[in-house]
Amino acid sequence: MLVLPLGYDTGMREYVAGFDIGGTKISLAVAGPAGEPIERFAEPTVAVCDCVEVGSDEILCSSLVRQLERMLHQALGKLGVNPYLLRAIGIVSAGPIRDGALWCPPNIRPEQAAGAGANGRVPWILPLVTPLESSFSCPVGLFNDCSGGVLGEVYTGVGKDVADKASLHLAYATISTGFGVGAWDGGQLILGKDGNAGEFGHIVAVPDGLACGCGNLGCVEAYASGTGIIGNAQVRLTAMAAGEGLSLVWRKLLAPEDPEHDGPVTRADGAFVNLTPAAVFEAADQGDPTANDVIADLIYAAGIGLAAVANAYDPAVITVGGGIALSHPALIEPIRDEMLRHLNVVSPDLRLTELGHRVTEFGALAVARKGLAASEAV
Ligand SMILES: [Zn+2]
Repeated sequence: MLVLPLGYDTGMREYVAGFDIGGTKISLAVAGPAGEPIERFAEPTVAVCDCVEVGSDEILCSSLVRQLERMLHQALGKLGVNPYLLRAIGIVSAGPIRDGALWCPPNIRPEQAAGAGANGRVPWILPLVTPLESSFSCPVGLFNDCSGGVLGEVYTGVGKDVADKASLHLAYATISTGFGVGAWDGGQLILGKDGNAGEFGHIVAVPDGLACGCGNLGCVEAYASGTGIIGNAQVRLTAMAAGEGLSLVWRKLLAPEDPEHDGPVTRADGAFVNLTPAAVFEAADQGDPTANDVIADLIYAAGIGLAAVANAYDPAVITVGGGIALSHPALIEPIRDEMLRHLNVVSPDLRLTELGHRVTEFGALAVARKGLAASEAV
């Protein structure tokens, strides 16, 4: 534990740090007294926790928090900033979150996940807030990444020049690996009991539709997300391969080294090699009807999801971010048209976030600068 030296003036603590924990990457921004980020650092997320404590009713993993501690110490060292000068740490992360920890995050698993203790019923827990508060002797706030996105909008984006934050009614939606939403209404984040409110990716868009990672059928996320695009295309291409055979467009995209012959287009598990959201958009650009159907499904499901957000919260503005949306800004207009078909409120202003990929990073810094704790009303 870091102990403050005697007589240390905590009023001099002018630096804040913000972590954005994604499934594949952790980014860290350090901001100085002026409030602007002065340095950014990023490294891959360690997806397997090798530091575990197996209990009878839970598995505690410390790998992630150790990674965050190391990243922050390295960053402060590189900047020449004494850790004593850190005022607060903000974290936004893909969830689920609960009690200052990540609970069973699907993308970070304990090493023993396939063995004892991980029979699907014993939760694995990655504590973040308490150990970081102890290591850096400063407050730490943890929010899910979509709450982080809307906080980024409130303090740095749409609401930047609005002094009265209670006058803001905003939602932020991400279309990335998954589909999620954060909402700010009249001066408060809408958090729910554990901070996981806004799971609009798991409302039903297509009854008895495609399987979703949550175990249900036909969720918005099963179509309007990176995993949804791949899953939808996988189902359609499997049918195509079993029927008339893969078209040349797909053979070129999936087996570019041997498109004219029976090149390796599937892996042992039956998944198509090289099948990515980018490949689907590429095929759609070439006029491929299967890819166009996948994109049409995405637009429909995203419209259903965002209409639900508008009907639930009646926001003035919904901004959209996430890798899929930011890489394909032309999606916004047809998604807006679909949303409008399902509204029972005056339409919100739906637009891409102007903060781009940094929207959640700004949210993490806002958590730190404002000293926000998930357990408190903001
Ligand atoms: Zn789902």
